[in-house]
Order: sequence, then C-alpha cells, then structure tokens
Amino acid sequence: MTLYFGVDVGGTSIKTALVTEKGEMVTKSSFATNPHRCPEDVCNELQGVLHQAVEKAACSMSDVVGVGVGLPGFLDLQKGEIIKLPNIGWERVPFIQIAESAFHLPVVMENDAKVAALAESWIGAGQHALALGCVTVGTGVGGGFVVHQRLYRGVNGMAGEVGHLTVDKGGLPCHCGRRGCLETVASATAMVRRAKELQASGQLSDEIAIDEAKTIFDLAEKGDNIAQQIIDEAADWLGFGLSIIAGTVNPDTILIGGGISKAGDVFLRPVTEAFRRYALHLVADACTVRAAKLTNDAGVIGASRLVSQRESLRR
Ligand code: BGC
Ligand code: ZN
Repeated sequence: MTLYFGVDVGGTSIKTALVTEKGEMVTKSSFATNPHRCPEDVCNELQGVLHQAVEKAACSMSDVVGVGVGLPGFLDLQKGEIIKLPNIGWERVPFIQIAESAFHLPVVMENDAKVAALAESWIGAGQHALALGCVTVGTGVGGGFVVHQRLYRGVNGMAGEVGHLTVDKGGLPCHCGRRGCLETVASATAMVRRAKELQASGQLSDEIAIDEAKTIFDLAEKGDNIAQQIIDEAADWLGFGLSIIAGTVNPDTILIGGGISKAGDVFLRPVTEAFRRYALHLVADACTVRAAKLTNDAGVIGASRLVSQRESLRR
C-alpha cells in the first residue's frame, strides 16, 4: 500500500491525515495550533501523530512514502524555508530540514491555499475547471490558481497571495506589516474583530462571547440584524476582492473554501452578489462562484497530492 501523510497547518488547528493515492483519507486527526511553540516541537509532535495514525490504520511505516505540509504563508521552495507565516508568526524557518529530521521521510511543503486549490481541482469542486481560483477564508485569506490542471505559482511563489491585496488604502494594520489588506476586512478574524468592536460600543449584545465567526453566523440565523450586517460587510469586501482576482485571471470557476465555507449560502450569496456588482460583466458572466467541496480536508488531501506528484517525477 502507498500512503502519504498530509499535514495542514492552519491559524487555529493543525490537521493531519493518512491519504491514499486516490485521495481517500484512511485516518485523520487534528490538534490546536499554538503560535508560541517552535517548529521543532510541532514537527516532533506530528511525527508522534504519524506513528499513531499508522497504528490505527493497521498499516506499516514503510507504506508511508512521504509527508506533504500546507503552511499558511510565504515560502521559499528553493531553499525549503518558511519566509513568514503572517498569522502564526514563524519567520525564517528552515522547515524542510527540521521536518525531514523529525520524520525521517521526504517532506514537501506548499502554501496552504495552493494545496487546497490543488485538492479541489483533483477530486473536489474544481475538477472540470479550465482556470480555477480557490480562495480560502479563515484566520487569513489565501488563494491558489490551477490553470489547465497545473498550480500556478508565479515567479517566486507569491501568486495567489490574495489576502494581502491592498483593498482599503491606509486601512487596518495587517500581520504582513502593511495596512488595508483584504484579510483585514474579509477574514473570519476580521468578522470577530468587528463583532467585538460593536459589542464594546453597545451596538451588539455582549451576552455571548464571540471568539469565532460561527457565533456571528448563529446570531444572524436567529435574526440578529447587526450580526447579519457584519456578515454582509465582510462578504461585500470579499466580493470586491474576487472582482480584482477575476479581472486579472479571468477564471471560469472561483471556489470559496476555508472555515467560513461551512456557513454556506448565508455567506456565499452576498459574496456572489458583490462580485457581480464589482466585476466587468464579461468577466463575471464567464465565472461561477461556488463553495469548495473538500472544506476542512482540502489541505491534507492537497498536501498528499503534492507528495504523490513529486514521487511520480522521481520514478
Ligand atoms: C497568508 C497566506 C495564507 C492565508 C490563509 C494569509 O495570511 O499570507 O499565505 O494562504 O493567510 O491561511
Ligand atoms: Zn497583509
């Protein structure tokens, strides 16, 4: 049996799965991200998780041919280094070296949103797309483009860094060190921040602590107009962001993935409406915006796909 160990490092949790060559997950697990832990510690913990997974799946370590890791930020693939993970804070980390000495297996890494795009184009909602954009909305906002089934990385891997498009000149500070990035207004984090502001000013009831976007969606579902307004504002910014992306890339499909895609139509509908309002008709009419299919599993599946693609190149 050939298996891959897929790892998806996110802003709030680290997900793992043993994945087959067909993209089926044999076992999966997750644990909370702790930004204060060093990469060595995290890789050692992941190595333990891999051993447990192998045991659980009743297979052998020799079945696992490699590890694929999706990381939420800027990477130097040539050097095998993390340049910066804006929402976790790791900077200048020789990740491949650290991970390979923990796992004793070949390790490949790629940006988290790019691996999600790869997974969706492989076995998810983007299988038939000619030019696919996948935008993930969670702690941050990420993006990946797959054109004619190939991941488009750009000249130094920064293609798809759509969360740091400046959409609001001089706007709120962003973890990348600049201001007014798309993720400062359209991420789950941005929605929570806005909700807390409105609670502090008394416009939104502070009876419930709001630590995740899901609480805002729950409040909106119960008829809270302010919660609905927070959702609509973030959706409007995201639709605006999508119009810039689509105006540049002219994709036939844009998938919305990441934690927020679980909210479904409540979020997707206003995003699509805003997108159609801001984009040129010729661009918008040629493009379908819909929810990603693999949601939380896209990262681990895409990371495994990356390993299998590298392995087949070696053979
Ligand atoms: C990072 C991206 C990442 C996204 C989602 C952004 O802050 O810059 O690289 O894909 O968050 O995790
Ligand atoms: Zn930024």
